[in-house]
Amino acid sequence: MGETIFSKIIRKEIPADIVYESETVLAFRDIKPQAPVHILIIPKITDIETAKDINPAEHGQLLADMFDAANKIAKDLGISESGYRLVINSGPDAGQEVCHLHMHLLGGRKLNWPPG
Ligand code: 5GP
Repeated sequence: MGETIFSKIIRKEIPADIVYESETVLAFRDIKPQAPVHILIIPKITDIETAKDINPAEHGQLLADMFDAANKIAKDLGISESGYRLVINSGPDAGQEVCHLHMHLLGGRKLNWPPG
């Protein structure tokens, strides 16, 4: 279960512009950026397809690792103070394309609310 384009990026079989990597998390620039900073933060494990598959008992530390990565990347890329948005699209109505849990980190411009 869980083989997606992101699995290939994790295994470095296809290239990605990686901005952060830890034992549990990988982060790289989105191929179709929607803002000057658009990073995807993903767990290296491949068995969480979407937000509804998150089990707090099992994945609590992993989620903390993803937020820690987001905050570090925002700082590294200079948007920690100007602000940024963290988005997890979950399921068809949210427009989720890749069935591997991922957090979008968006920033570097004023972001509209509500999103479309
Ligand atoms: P979703 O719509 O599932 O929340 O977001 C998936 C994101 O993955 C999209 O923003 C899309 O541009 C990005 N994406 C899809 N394939 C690739 C790829 O091969 N490389 C990179 N860097 N991003 C990708």
